[in-house]
Amino acid sequence: MSITQNIQRITAQLPDGVKLVAVSKFHPVEKIMEAYDAGQRLFGENRAQELAAKAPQLPTDIQWHFIGHLQKNKVRIIMPYASTIQSIDSIELLQLVNKEAARINRHINVLLQLYVAKEQTKSGFTIDEVLKAADDGAFKDLSNVTIAGVMAMATFTDDMEQVASEFEQVHNTFLTLRDNHFAGDPAFKEISMGMSDDWRIAVKHCATLVRIGTDIFGAREY
Ligand SMILES: *Cc1c(COP(=O)(O)O)cnc(C)c1O
Repeated sequence: MSITQNIQRITAQLPDGVKLVAVSKFHPVEKIMEAYDAGQRLFGENRAQELAAKAPQLPTDIQWHFIGHLQKNKVRIIMPYASTIQSIDSIELLQLVNKEAARINRHINVLLQLYVAKEQTKSGFTIDEVLKAADDGAFKDLSNVTIAGVMAMATFTDDMEQVASEFEQVHNTFLTLRDNHFAGDPAFKEISMGMSDDWRIAVKHCATLVRIGTDIFGAREY
């Protein structure tokens, strides 16, 4: 199936209010344009240099979400392009993003990445860490950042019950943060979870953003 058909097939299955982030990492701008011509405007990239190389070649009404582990020395590279950084995994990174956004006089949305997988390779705040940081006031008084919700990746496994239980933990943590720490803040509303193999499960557990690459663009050539 073509990129256009894949996007149409997936978006037709997403409930109202759930947005598709087309993960275009490792794919050339021509393929991104194919998705753009099919109406897709929200794209995800996970490497700073790659985003900074591709974004200037593409239409300016694309919204870029940065979804990969972000090293502190790369924040400045993506700041002009990313509309949302989904992968905030430490307070230091959050503060740096706020500072860099202020430096170029812009505002940026971020998501707090939660670590719920049974895998050492993934990053993010554990649930205890994120709740403690919220208690400590770490998510307040950020002049140039809006914390718009949470993001997570499930364990890479065939055990879909395991995946479902991790997505449930993410949803519950989102609710705790929203009700106890972001009460009254309508901007705190996003749950980004679900990839090509597990987005249907993520949607059942109240995902608002699904991040899909392979299922749209085919296999990546690394
Ligand atoms: C690559 C990537 C995806 C998309 O993965 P697919 O399995 O190709 O859909 C989603 N989220 C993150 C954080 C990624 O790095």
